[in-house]
Amino acid sequence: MSEPSEAPEPSGLPDPSASAPSDPHELTVLDPATEKVVATVPAAGAADVDAAVARAARVQPAWAALAPADRARLLRRYADVVDAHLDELAGLEVREAGHTIGNARWEAGNARDLLLYAAGGAERLLGRQIPVPGGWDVTFHEPLGVVGVIAPWNFPMPIAAWGSFPALAAGNAVVLKPAETTPLTALRLAELALEAGLPEHLFQVLPGHGRTAGRALTDHPGVAKIVFTGSTRTGREVMERCARLVKPVTLELGGKSPNVVFADADLQAALDPFSFLDNAGQDCCARTRVLVQETVYEEARDILAEALAAVVVGDPADARTQMGPLISRQQLDRVRSYVPEDAPALRGSAPGGPGFWFPPTVLTGERHDGRAAVEEIFGPVAVLLPFTDEADAVRLANDTPYGLSGSVWTRDVGRALRVSQAVRAGNLSVNSHSSVRYWTPFGGFKQSGLGSELGPDALTAFTGTKNVFISTEGPAQ
Ligand code: NDP
Repeated sequence: MSEPSEAPEPSGLPDPSASAPSDPHELTVLDPATEKVVATVPAAGAADVDAAVARAARVQPAWAALAPADRARLLRRYADVVDAHLDELAGLEVREAGHTIGNARWEAGNARDLLLYAAGGAERLLGRQIPVPGGWDVTFHEPLGVVGVIAPWNFPMPIAAWGSFPALAAGNAVVLKPAETTPLTALRLAELALEAGLPEHLFQVLPGHGRTAGRALTDHPGVAKIVFTGSTRTGREVMERCARLVKPVTLELGGKSPNVVFADADLQAALDPFSFLDNAGQDCCARTRVLVQETVYEEARDILAEALAAVVVGDPADARTQMGPLISRQQLDRVRSYVPEDAPALRGSAPGGPGFWFPPTVLTGERHDGRAAVEEIFGPVAVLLPFTDEADAVRLANDTPYGLSGSVWTRDVGRALRVSQAVRAGNLSVNSHSSVRYWTPFGGFKQSGLGSELGPDALTAFTGTKNVFISTEGPAQ
């Protein structure tokens, strides 16, 4: 397949941003495991965004003027408050997003740890002194002002934290729009910030619809930067709108990541089904293209068949559960559309209903350029594809407009290095499926994104570099 000019959109389904919300003033949060209403939340409109940005702009200068050590102290206190509410936050993530309780606890801990890391970053946001003739030259990392963060529903709490906490630590105020289906953990994080003593209005969460509140935030001239995490389609629109104001943007978008498994690999570890089933496959880093060297294809299929049959799918609040539901009926319909009942596939099991359940699935009869092998499904569905040799593996791994993550499995060190250099993706793992650590950078290549988050440069992404030259030659006589 030659590289298409645009990442393929999920086909045959309506554009979600084109449909009118049932009540534009209210969001109904459903528990995806039961379809019961968890909460209703007011939906912000453009006027609410405007007011929030104005409030944020009023408090941001004083926050930026605090000594970095004082900002860090407040953020560490915020981390302590989050730590005291880990179970509550994890419970909310289970109910609004259907995450397994084990994953949700990890996510709440990740938010706390990122606060501590960002607090340290505030103290180490150092400029430079650059030798120049006739004076001194110094650089400063100045905060941008008010940052807008737009988050998706698949990891509501971590993505709210990744976009917001480094921005706050760098001296900015944040206005965050969570996904309409999952506003609760972000709202609670903002309340906890106040409890910790962060200034009022510094970190505001405005639940709302993307096509109203999201667009208003993107278009607002008082918002200095947008951090957007979501689909490539919406990311494209956000970038176009930001371009009108020459507003910087960080985009964390979709993926269709390869898991390249050579015959000499530890096959059991390489074919861990949670490399594509984590969060019911609603994971931008999911390794959904399982590329296996043809000499071990049959063995790989047997390993996967056995593993899928053993996956425990069910009540996400039960600590024994390994995979929960999909987020919504719309997402369930979307995933179903990729898996016809008669498609050759390995299948696990899933509850019937209520709830939005889909069984762990590996399609075995798909072509490498078939719809399920090319489009981001965002459900517990992978495709199993054979490759012949190293060159063929690299060709197939790169045969996508996405470039978010991927894994390479081999015991040959030279090959591991060659292939991990040749695969065009922002986050690669060798003999591992791990993708995200708050102290290492995370971002996509190609149509998976622009810029990166987390890691040592997390704070500088929320600053402008100012250069100041100070003449030592005195005023002209
Ligand atoms: P969407 O792009 O549909 O939505 C993301 C966010 O943008 C939501 O808050 C949404 O609001 C909002 N939004 C929608 N339309 C607009 C608009 N026109 N202007 C401004 N904001 C808008 O993505 P999903 O929520 O469906 O999330 C799934 C996608 O996110 C997947 O493609 C996945 O790969 C990607 N993702 C990427 C990650 C990464 O780090 N690379 C991490 C996690 C997910 P509303 O809820 O009202 O629609």
